[in-house]
Amino acid sequence: MTADGEVHVAFTSVRAGNLARHVGEQQRDAVASRRRGLEAHMGVGSGTLRFLDQVHSALVLDAAEHPADSAHAPTGDAWISRGGAEPLAVMVADCLPVLLVGQGQGSAPLITGAAHAGREGLIGGVLENTVTAMREHGAESVQAWVGPGVCGSCYEVPAAMHEELGTVRPALASQTTWGTPALDLRSEAEEILRELGAGIAELAGCTLEDETLYSHRRAPGEGRFAGLVWRAR
Ligand SMILES: [Zn+2]
Ligand SMILES: [Zn+2]
Repeated sequence: MTADGEVHVAFTSVRAGNLARHVGEQQRDAVASRRRGLEAHMGVGSGTLRFLDQVHSALVLDAAEHPADSAHAPTGDAWISRGGAEPLAVMVADCLPVLLVGQGQGSAPLITGAAHAGREGLIGGVLENTVTAMREHGAESVQAWVGPGVCGSCYEVPAAMHEELGTVRPALASQTTWGTPALDLRSEAEEILRELGAGIAELAGCTLEDETLYSHRRAPGEGRFAGLVWRAR
């Protein structure tokens, strides 16, 4: 998908294999070679795609301050890239991958962003922090792509959590298809993005139901797919 001429946003599937070093078959060489293959497919330099050491925080990093280093990913749950200079990745398997492109006024350079937005990140403010960081760097308008995650009809949670979160964040409250308390991360993410004034493009898809995607709930430890935003060379 082309967001703006030469800026691309995309989500991988099981076809690209597990892209995370911390889960899956524990074959770091295999993950490294898959990442290289992905970079070739994206048309970006080998070893330039930025991955995070994700901890379900609301921390946003500026990719320019973190040189690509396949051995040591920086800790955080979102990125921004000024001018879209650095290709960004976030890894998910039920949490939502949210990709963003910010446009400045006139010929101002665009700003890209990518966030790993699960329950904790959404509540902690990862989307607010990412959009704020983009605006601080000149983004006037922001377009967001919300990728596949576990849907509101599948994400079962304890009744107490549903009660507590649903009271303060009604968009989160949902019910599984089998009638138990659930959370709807997508509707909450959309609510937050709307309030931030971002445009929203939705890519439906439930990781728990769709076996072409990785799901931590369906198959723990099997793998992670990725949300990607980059500027082709
Ligand atoms: Zn997650
Ligand atoms: Zn579902």
